[in-house]
Amino acid sequence: PTRIEILGVPVDCLTMDRTVELAASILAGDKPHSVVAVNPEKVMRARRDPALRGQLRRANVLIPDGIGVVMAARILGLGRLRRVPGSELMPRLCELAARRGYRVFLFGAAPDVNERAAQVLCERYPGLIVAGTQHGFLADSEMPAFIERINRLQVDLLFVALGSPKQEDWMDRFVPRLRVKICQGVGGTFDVLAG
Ligand code: UDP
Repeated sequence: PTRIEILGVPVDCLTMDRTVELAASILAGDKPHSVVAVNPEKVMRARRDPALRGQLRRANVLIPDGIGVVMAARILGLGRLRRVPGSELMPRLCELAARRGYRVFLFGAAPDVNERAAQVLCERYPGLIVAGTQHGFLADSEMPAFIERINRLQVDLLFVALGSPKQEDWMDRFVPRLRVKICQGVGGTFDVLAG
């Protein structure tokens, strides 16, 4: 897809349907891809936080998360974007996973929220394979074993809900070491799913 830049942060010109198509082709390949949502909060934070800016610039797919980014692109004369909310992409990817037998893993949020989100997704998408779950309050020292666990479980789609900028930092560090196809940062989406 065409890529624009909003104040130094790349954004891919995608629609929801094209993003799902792109995900399907990534799932058919064998290289891990990170998917991050770009919103005005992250763009503004990236201006004063070079670490976050670097993490965003190294991400593989950057979706225009909401109307704020769409408006910014229009005002800056960068063209007409369509919204691809991360919170809507995640269920679309779970639907695809359920249909095609891809294995998902839910990482992040409080233990009860994480568990409930997995339950809700399994009810909503019959046949969905949740290969594993992990709450989002692991110590750094537990990370190597956790990475190994994900790799052992042969996960195709990893959803990371640690909030920003924590999840962008985590994905930048660990996605290259993961044998997953897609790792999407989903912020507070597990909390929304869990109700
Ligand atoms: N969280 C986590 N580990 C942490 C800090 C936060 O798992 O060390 C979780 C938190 O429980 C919540 C989510 O990350 O489920 C943060 O959601 P928030 O709405 O703050 O993120 P945003 O969508 O604003 O990036």
